[in-house]
Amino acid sequence: MLAELKGLNEECGVFGIWGHPEAAQITYYGLHSLQHRGQEGTGIVVSDGNELKGRKGEGLVTEIFTADAMEDLQGVGAIGHVRYATAGGGGYENVQPLLFQSQSGGLALAHNGNLVNADALRNQLEAQGSIFQTSSDTEVLAHLIKRGGFSQLKDRVKNALPMLKGAYAFLIMTETEMMVALDPHGLRPLSLGRLGDAYVVASETCAFDIVGAEFVRDILPGELLVIDADGLHSEMYSMSSGTAICTMEYIYFSRPDSNIHGINVHAARKNLGKQLAKEVPIQADVVTGVPDSSISAAIGYAEESGIPYEMGLIKNRYVGRTFIQPSQSLREQGVKMKLSPVRGIVEGKRVIMVDDSIVRGTTSRRIVKMLKEAGATEVHVVISSPPIQNPCFYGIDTSTREELIASDHTVEEIRELIGADSLTFLSVEGMLEAIGHNEPGETRGQCLACFTGKYPTEIYPQAVPAGQKC
Ligand code: SF4
Repeated sequence: MLAELKGLNEECGVFGIWGHPEAAQITYYGLHSLQHRGQEGTGIVVSDGNELKGRKGEGLVTEIFTADAMEDLQGVGAIGHVRYATAGGGGYENVQPLLFQSQSGGLALAHNGNLVNADALRNQLEAQGSIFQTSSDTEVLAHLIKRGGFSQLKDRVKNALPMLKGAYAFLIMTETEMMVALDPHGLRPLSLGRLGDAYVVASETCAFDIVGAEFVRDILPGELLVIDADGLHSEMYSMSSGTAICTMEYIYFSRPDSNIHGINVHAARKNLGKQLAKEVPIQADVVTGVPDSSISAAIGYAEESGIPYEMGLIKNRYVGRTFIQPSQSLREQGVKMKLSPVRGIVEGKRVIMVDDSIVRGTTSRRIVKMLKEAGATEVHVVISSPPIQNPCFYGIDTSTREELIASDHTVEEIRELIGADSLTFLSVEGMLEAIGHNEPGETRGQCLACFTGKYPTEIYPQAVPAGQKC
């Protein structure tokens, strides 16, 4: 499904490199491959060993980083960020990396995730005299680092991180080092790679393939890496409280060519489709997937069921950025602009339409209508995830509970609302089996909170589900 139509949006991607003479240029390519994780703003901060220099703006990577802009960014270390912002959290000042200059030098921060206790910490810091430049929760870490009473930056970071609750994959850079930190549950994906003598870090491994880097390993929950002229040093700043990687990364957000915890995203989606076909055998003529993220699941469903996969829906790839604006009216219009049914394929046919999830239901209703108008005799909607009944507090904009159709409707009520002949969701057990994580425990090392309501961290009263800050 198309992120900007569904109302289910990733909230950022990070990329960093240390020890390469073309650090900013490589970061540009890395960010470009992570563009699906956020299209509202992007930035790169580079270190030449003596000073930090940054450029950022609201727009796509290719729009902000022109050839002239890249000329200015020379150095051996760089961190970059792509950002999605929901209403209230946009604005130039919130585009990352955030860059702070002080007498003792510069500090740049890039963050993927959402801190659930950011408001509480911010109130506390403001009461103690801190003045914030942005409304981003990321800035809280900068203030906590600044206030730590240790002389070494690493010690100040180690002291500050345990105060943060929620989801975070942080890249922190000064003139002489880059630090990488993942929250104790490892909610957001973050991997380490090698490019010659340089180290690279990215939200998704697809970024390594683009820049020619070799995957080394995933960053561990609760791990802090320091990369400097002496190489790489790793330590645990916190005991992991049990891995809880975001399940929606497999189902929907990450690129199919990325691997998360050793599992290829396309393969996981295909297995989800196969599992659906096992759980829900349906009599039909063709299987189709809603582009792009549901194609893999649709192929899996077709393979398992023996019903041919056909391209019943096509995506118009040339719709401008206007349709990224996250307002309800544009979402409605956007469905028609972005997707078209292929009449020659669906006319007179019983169609199984595979989609990865249902958030508000509006888009599914429109797609079902489109397929029927194009002549489909039956439309059976099968969803390669369980119903999303709970908001996400960890950096995914899944809207508030009231906006989630599955929070207060039965499957039969949703079926009726979207106008489908049948509607089926995948079971939680089937989903876990299909993704294939081997971690011990009921959740197998995955966060399932939007499906089950069991959040892996404490949720603070001020935490906002529409994750406005990244
Ligand atoms: S609540 Fe859902 S979307 Fe949010 S981190 Fe957990 S699995 Fe991912």
